[in-house]
Amino acid sequence: MNVAGHVPKQLFIAGAWQDAEAGRTLSVDDPATGKELARVADASPADAERAADAAAAAQPGWAATPPRVRGEILRRAYEIIVARTEELALLMTLEMGKPLEQARGEVAYAAEFFRWFSEEAVRIDGGFSTAPDGGNRILVLRQPVGPCLLITPWNFPLAMGTRKIGPAVAAGCTMVLKPAPQTPLSTLALAAILAEAGLPGGVLNVVPTSDAAGVVEPLLRGGQIRKLSFTGSTQVGRILLAQCAGTVVRTSMELGGNAAVLVFDDADLDVAVEGTMLAKMRNMGEACTAANRIFVHRSVAGEFASRVAARMAALTVGPGTEPGVDVGPLIDDAGRRKVDSLVRDAVAHGAEVLTGGELPAGPGCFYPPTVLTGVSGDAALMQTEIFGPVAAITEFDTEEEALAAANDTEWGLVGYVFTRSLDRALRVSERLETGMVGLNTGLVSNPAAPFGGVKQSGLGREGGRTGIDGFLEEKYVAIPF
Ligand code: ADP
Repeated sequence: MNVAGHVPKQLFIAGAWQDAEAGRTLSVDDPATGKELARVADASPADAERAADAAAAAQPGWAATPPRVRGEILRRAYEIIVARTEELALLMTLEMGKPLEQARGEVAYAAEFFRWFSEEAVRIDGGFSTAPDGGNRILVLRQPVGPCLLITPWNFPLAMGTRKIGPAVAAGCTMVLKPAPQTPLSTLALAAILAEAGLPGGVLNVVPTSDAAGVVEPLLRGGQIRKLSFTGSTQVGRILLAQCAGTVVRTSMELGGNAAVLVFDDADLDVAVEGTMLAKMRNMGEACTAANRIFVHRSVAGEFASRVAARMAALTVGPGTEPGVDVGPLIDDAGRRKVDSLVRDAVAHGAEVLTGGELPAGPGCFYPPTVLTGVSGDAALMQTEIFGPVAAITEFDTEEEALAAANDTEWGLVGYVFTRSLDRALRVSERLETGMVGLNTGLVSNPAAPFGGVKQSGLGREGGRTGIDGFLEEKYVAIPF
């Protein structure tokens, strides 16, 4: 099926598919082959300006659209996505590399954000109360924050889109969406689905570009964008926060992670191995929630490491489109070279390679599942997101030592705890400096839960009951009475 051929390749502005200025295009490549998959319109700053104008023009009408109508558009889009699972999954696999089975999982996950926020659209409430001195009534309304700029990464091209579009649509905000240049096709397919589901023109505008910095900075300075919702690296997040300061644009930031896995001596090892495999290998390790540092109690470390190594060695590496493949290619050559240099650095700092660890020859951006033991605290990967299929295992002796090591990072997105002790589970969950904890599980992502980090992993939460809050402003009306 020529799935990439059917997807729109133009900019989506004011409800119309349009070429970029001067007909510019960017290349979307298949990381399994390195070959070009499609060419997509490459927005200029002027194109993005037109998109922001369209979002601003559509804002009043969209804010006045009944919540039920907004919710039902999301609900229809949810149904269309589910019905087209196979083609969307294949498209994602082709442009991003993940195995088809995982791409199907992402389609389901992505669709659920629309279902969740279709239900939240009609539950935007406010407040009415009496001031303590009895002299005033306090009326509180919640209104859409206004046109939003959404910037998404390449690792979950569909779900990171729906996780931002869902609450924005529910809240009554219009949008300019800039997808990652590696994976614009999934986002363009999503825009077409939303249009089919009845989203009015101008509410969602999509501008793929190879010049993210050049396109985004003027938008944030221009005064039309009221909120930025960004998912990406901490490094870029810091730049964008500084740019937002200039015009006091509201921000939601989902940034990097450096997740620790803590396996205690009282853990069920079957559960710990299974959970670690999931936390490590989902998306080939290309996730901000990926297990980056695995701390295991000394008494079980040997058995744990050899079981993880056996599981990793048994995984099938190959193009995500092929049946039976567990591990697809990484996103690009730079990505796999970074993984390779982190592994070499860990080995230079004394780590032992139990399996993998060798950069294969091309074609394709493959890296083998790798297990390292005895990883030193000084190895670069302890303070760098690996973003690849490398499990780095370190031993510990006490709970205190494990917690100190886990918290010894500027990031704080998620931690994973494996123990059968209820006391320890609660104690360690409370003391982990993270926004999320996986307790005897390697998967925390859930549209009904608040996803987000503390420290330099971000600001705000996406999904859950509070996921819509960042798209709403409170307005207070004082009423003498
Ligand atoms: P990664 O390293 O995983 O690609 P990035 O933070 O570089 O993560 O990218 C996440 C998103 O941010 C992508 O859509 C990318 O195009 C965009 N981006 C990168 N640099 C900038 C920038 N200077 N300004 C705005 N957006 C940017």
